[in-house]
Amino acid sequence: MALMDVNEHILKCRKCRLWQGAKLPVPGEGPANAKLMLVGQNPGAEEDKTGKPFIGRSGKFLNKVLAKNDIRREEVFITNMVKHLSPKNRKPLPDEIEACASFLEAQIKTVKPKIVVLMGKVAWQAPRVKGVKYIETYHPSAAMRFTKMRKRFEEDFNSLKDHL
Ligand code: URA
Repeated sequence: MALMDVNEHILKCRKCRLWQGAKLPVPGEGPANAKLMLVGQNPGAEEDKTGKPFIGRSGKFLNKVLAKNDIRREEVFITNMVKHLSPKNRKPLPDEIEACASFLEAQIKTVKPKIVVLMGKVAWQAPRVKGVKYIETYHPSAAMRFTKMRKRFEEDFNSLKDHL
């Protein structure tokens, strides 16, 4: 399936309740042949307003870590486990994760990245596609706040160049 078709399905999705409280779905963005894919939890308020992933505070932190490792954000496909904002930014519920999983699976199968970095516990539940290397790390909003997590997060991003 082409990415545009996946986006079309996301746009029309009513498989869970989240679309009701969201302004825009955030399907993700990046080159259709990206070698690296980053997966977060779900969009926050800023992302909901614009339809773009990781543009708020944790996105700014993520940009810095990417830059430090000579990774250009424009080369990376950035998306989330769940494509809609949740009420009061709560963690997505299991049925919401389940409802959205096929979209992420389709994105991974279409883009065929070498590496998918799963950022945070919700993202760790991403469907696994054969032949793709998965790295589980912390969510940038946790890495931003806690030194130990930041260290691990930065090490994980630093290790990417060995795999790409
Ligand atoms: N947090 C996420 O997990 N994803 C975003 O796109 C923004 C914030």
